[in-house]
Amino acid sequence: MKTPAQARAILAALEKHHPNADTELVYRTPFELLVATMLSAQSTDMRVNAVTPALFERYPDAASLVKADTAALETLIHSTGFFRQKARSLVGMAEILMREHGGEVPADMDALVKLPGVGRKTANVVLGHALGIPGLPVDRHVLRVANRLGLAHGDDAVQVETQLCALFPKKKWTQASDTLILHGRRICRPTPLCKMCNARKLCDYAQR
Ligand code: SF4
Repeated sequence: MKTPAQARAILAALEKHHPNADTELVYRTPFELLVATMLSAQSTDMRVNAVTPALFERYPDAASLVKADTAALETLIHSTGFFRQKARSLVGMAEILMREHGGEVPADMDALVKLPGVGRKTANVVLGHALGIPGLPVDRHVLRVANRLGLAHGDDAVQVETQLCALFPKKKWTQASDTLILHGRRICRPTPLCKMCNARKLCDYAQR
């Protein structure tokens, strides 16, 4: 396992590839980011960004989404996949926001993961990007890249989140996740492009 100093050096090397890494989902409010992140499950950010302008125009907040016509909502989100389940989760999420949180997205992990269709990863995305509370979302890219680099060990997302949070200062958590995600999409793909990777001298996988 890497030390915090080694982890900082690795992150600095990766940040040269992906300066100012951020989520690629387009949003204006915490509510919009929550909806977009829920839709991104089993989909891509590009696909989600293609459907959200029309979706957010029709349902800009929990008060409008809670009254959504199921067929109309399903049509709008159809191309993101699993649209029936996602439509149910979206309306269920809006119901809880209206009933328990005054229509607002709660800035609280425990409250967020009680919303239908919202797991720890989604909650961390929203907390870190839209609510100013550092979080370290772990998706499949973070799992793959962190394990290859030796920043974490294992395929359990919660355990990997804990390992990574211990290596980086809290204020870097969200950007560390965004950087690892972009690295996994662009360079440390399932077949990694190690020859062009700035972190190869610090990477367990490349040094084997
Ligand atoms: S050196 Fe290769 S395996 Fe290691 S992080 Fe870079 S691309 Fe991934």
